[in-house]
Amino acid sequence: MELVTRSVDEFNQVSQLIADGLNNCAIARITGVPRETVRDWCRNPPRSLAGESPSGSPCGRLHEFDALPEGAYAYLLGMYLGDGWISRDRRSWRLRIACDAKYPAIIERCRQAIDAVMPGQMASAVKRKGNCVDVSLYSQHWPCLLPQHGPGRKHNRRIVLQPWQQAIVDNEAEEFVLGLLHSDGCRVVANDRGVMSTRYHFSNRSEDIHGLFTAALDLLEIPWRRSSRYIVSIYRKAATERLDEFVGPKDSAVPLSSVHYAA
Ligand SMILES: [Zn+2]
Repeated sequence: MELVTRSVDEFNQVSQLIADGLNNCAIARITGVPRETVRDWCRNPPRSLAGESPSGSPCGRLHEFDALPEGAYAYLLGMYLGDGWISRDRRSWRLRIACDAKYPAIIERCRQAIDAVMPGQMASAVKRKGNCVDVSLYSQHWPCLLPQHGPGRKHNRRIVLQPWQQAIVDNEAEEFVLGLLHSDGCRVVANDRGVMSTRYHFSNRSEDIHGLFTAALDLLEIPWRRSSRYIVSIYRKAATERLDEFVGPKDSAVPLSSVHYAA
């Protein structure tokens, strides 16, 4: 299995056959493009290719974002917005997520998410100086899959999700919140004169990323509050218990593959 993309030529050929009045089955047979894709293009032509510049995606190919594994993508997006960056290599792009060596379960989960989003490849985990492990993978498609990539630091530029990304985040809000908390969050158990209480804190310098995090919490009906300029905190017992259902301590992160079987 590979990341599904279609070329501009395929799209143009399908569009021509639709205009000629062929049905979807016939078009699929002639072009080799799956019937479901032909149907989607028929109903809803991708804006990047329908009469506009064919370079709607940075690689010049058309991505079928609907085919992405949503949970893995939402988690990876959260990790990327927290501690990830994309850099240009000679021939490709490299996504790196900086993880803390103290939490091997998070490193493993991050690798699983990258491998699920980019099937057929294997993300590497390389120890850097200090306590930092870079989980990384090369692909020409990172700027397509993470269009928030841009020059400069994330907190100095606008971070706005594409509609297809927002749809995935809305469907997989827990995974998105988990990715953000695994990168820029922490869980603290406070002992107040013998009374233990759990708190979560999320720290990021981007106002836009704060907005994405708190919107996902709102969707999950988890109350939060802005405890300082860069920090969002979750204090209330019911709220931290709800987060503990799918976040919990960082040293016992649940593998990606074993999260969604219980539904
Ligand atoms: Zn691409």
